[in-house]
Amino acid sequence: MAAKLFKGAEYLITEAACTDIFTPEDFSDEQKQIGETTEQFVLNEVVPLKEEIEHQNFAHNVALMKKCGELGLLMIDAPEEYGGLELDKATSMLAAEKLSQAGSFSVTYSAHTGIGTLPLVYYGTPEQKEKYLGKIISGEWIAAYCLTEPGSGSDALGASATATLSEDGKYYLLNGTKQFITNGGFADFFTIFAKIDKQHFTGFLVERTTEGLSIGAEEKKMGVKGSSTTQVILDNAKVPVENLQGEIGKGHKIAFNVLNVGRFKLGAGTTGASKLAITTGIKYANERKAFGTTIASFGAIKEKVANLTAACFASESVVYRLAGLIDNRLATIPKETPNYYEAYQEGIEEYSVECAIAKVFCSEVLADVVDEVLQIHGGYGFTQEYPAEGYYRDERINRIWEGTNEINRLLIPGIILKRAMKGEIPLQKEAMKAFESLMSPSFDELDDSIPFAAEKLLLANLKQAFLVLAGTGVQKFMATIKDEQEILMAVADIAINIFAIESTILRAEKILPTLSDSKKASISAVVKVFTFNGSEAAGSAARRAAYMMEEGDTLTMLLAGIRRFTKYDATGLLQAKRLLADASIEADRYIF
Ligand SMILES: Cc1cc2nc3c(=O)[nH]c(=O)nc-3n(C[C@H](O)[C@H](O)[C@H](O)COP(=O)(O)OP(=O)(O)OC[C@H]3O[C@@H](n4cnc5c(N)ncnc54)[C@H](O)[C@@H]3O)c2cc1C
Repeated sequence: MAAKLFKGAEYLITEAACTDIFTPEDFSDEQKQIGETTEQFVLNEVVPLKEEIEHQNFAHNVALMKKCGELGLLMIDAPEEYGGLELDKATSMLAAEKLSQAGSFSVTYSAHTGIGTLPLVYYGTPEQKEKYLGKIISGEWIAAYCLTEPGSGSDALGASATATLSEDGKYYLLNGTKQFITNGGFADFFTIFAKIDKQHFTGFLVERTTEGLSIGAEEKKMGVKGSSTTQVILDNAKVPVENLQGEIGKGHKIAFNVLNVGRFKLGAGTTGASKLAITTGIKYANERKAFGTTIASFGAIKEKVANLTAACFASESVVYRLAGLIDNRLATIPKETPNYYEAYQEGIEEYSVECAIAKVFCSEVLADVVDEVLQIHGGYGFTQEYPAEGYYRDERINRIWEGTNEINRLLIPGIILKRAMKGEIPLQKEAMKAFESLMSPSFDELDDSIPFAAEKLLLANLKQAFLVLAGTGVQKFMATIKDEQEILMAVADIAINIFAIESTILRAEKILPTLSDSKKASISAVVKVFTFNGSEAAGSAARRAAYMMEEGDTLTMLLAGIRRFTKYDATGLLQAKRLLADASIEADRYIF
C-alpha cells in the first residue's frame, strides 16, 4: 500500500496515525549499514585527529573528505547517472546524524554535501554535472556555498555582489565579497550568488583557480574551530558564461530551496550531537563523587538526565518523521518527469514549515543539552580538560546559520498564513470551529482504551489553541500581522511544540508493541516527561500571544480557553523522571 501523503503543515489541523509516520526504528538494513559505516569512519578515522583538526590542520579535513568519498558518504544525494547513490532523505539524515559526532569535521562534511553540492545536483545543466559532480562526490574537490555578504546575511537578497557580462560575451565578471564561507580555506568549487546588472540575483559555479577570486583570512571563531570560515573576495572574477546556474534572476530559488535541505540535515546533525553529549554527561555523573556518593544519585542530576533524554527522543522523532514525509512525497515523482529536479524541489518545499521546525527545535534541544551537560560537570565543565566545554562552544552556531532561529520561527506562521490565503490549508474554517469549541462547555473525556489517551487529548486541544491564537492574530491585524513579530514568534512556538509532542507520541505508540517491558516503561516515561515539558512551553507561548494581542473580557476568555486547551494530567511525573534517569544511569549512556 502506498504511504499516506500529508500536505505540509497539515499536522496542525488533522490527526495522523502512528502507522503513518517514519521512525528511526523503521530503518532498513541498507540504511543501518550506511549509518554503521559512517559511525565507524568517525570513530576510527576522525576522532583520533580531532585535536589536530581543532588546531586547523586542514590537511586532515581534505584527506578525510577523500576517505568519505571512497566510502560513498559524499554521494548519498547525488544522481545515479553521475555516479551517485541517490538514496532517500532518511539515509542522508542518518549519515548527517552520525557525522555530527565528528566535531568540526562534520561542518566540512555537511557544507560540502549539503549547500556545496545540492545546487549543482538540483539546478546544474547536464554539462555542468558532467564536468563537476564526479570530482565533488569522490572528494577530489571540496565544495562551498557563498550567499552571505558583510552587509547581508538574513536579508540574503539584499546582496551587493555584482555580475557583468564581458564585452566579448564569454564571461561574467563577478565583484564583491562573500562572508563567513564554510570550507573557504580549502574549497575547490564555489556556488556564488551575485546580481547581474545589479538587479537579477543569479547563481554561478566558480572554480577556485578562477582569475580574480581570492580567499580571506580564517575567522577566529568561538566554536567549530576546526572548520574553515573565510571571506571569498571577487575582483573581476572571470566566470565563463556556461557556468551560470539555473536561470538569470532565479538565484533566490536555488538559495532558498537548498536551505530547506540544510535545515532538516541540521536537525539530524544536532540530534546526533545531543545523543553524544547526553552520554558524556551520564558517564561523568556516574563517575563523579560528592557527599560520599556519585552525583548521579541526586534527584537534581536525575531530573536533568530525564529531561534531556526525553527532549532528545523528541528531537530524533521530529527529524525522522520529517524524513518520512519528504521521502513519501519524493517517491511519487517519476524519474522521467520533465524538469524532474524542479518537481523534486517542490516536493521538499512542501514541508518548509516542518524543515524550519526541525531546525529550530533540534538546535534548541542541543542548546539545552550542552548547557546542562556542562552543569553536570560542575567546575570541570568550564575547563578544556573535559569535552563538555567544546560541546558548549560548538553548539552555538546552530542557532545562527541555515537561517537564524528568529528567521525560521517567522517563516513558520508566515508560510502557514500564505498557504491559508491561497486556500491550500483550510485554516479559517478550522479556526472558526476552534472558536466555537472555545465558547462551548468542555466535555473532554479520556478514552483509556487508546494508547497515550491523555497525551492525545492534550494534542488535539493544543491544535485548537494554535487555531484560536493564529485566527485571533489574523482577525486583529489582517495583512499587517507580518509586522507583529513578537506574536508570530509565540505562535511559532506553539506550532513547534505541537509537532514535537505529536512526533514523540506517535513514534512511541508505533514501537511500543515491539518492546520488552522495561523498554515499554522507559518509552512511556519519555512520553510523559516530554509531553509535560512541551505542553508547558506551548502553554507559556499561548499566554504570551494572548497578552500581546488582547485585553479586557476578550483576553479573559482567551486565557480561560488556553487554560483548558493546555491542561494535561501528568500524574506520576516524578516517577517517570526517576525511571528514565535510572535506566539511563544504569546503561551509562543515552538509552534510545
Ligand atoms: C561559522 C559560520 C559559517 C557560515 N557558513 C556560511 C556559508 O558556508 N555560506 C554562507 O553563505 N553563509 C554562511 N554563514 C553565514 C550565516 O548563514 C549568517 O551569519 C546568518 O544567515 C545570519 O546572518 P548575519 O550574520 O548577517 O546576521 P543578521 O542577518 O545581521 O542578523 C542579526 C540578528 O538580527 C536578526 N534578524 C535579522 N533580520 C531579521 C528580521 N527580518 N526579523 C527579525 N530578526 C531579524 C537575526 O535573527 C539575528 O539575531 C556562516 C556563518 C558562520 C558564523
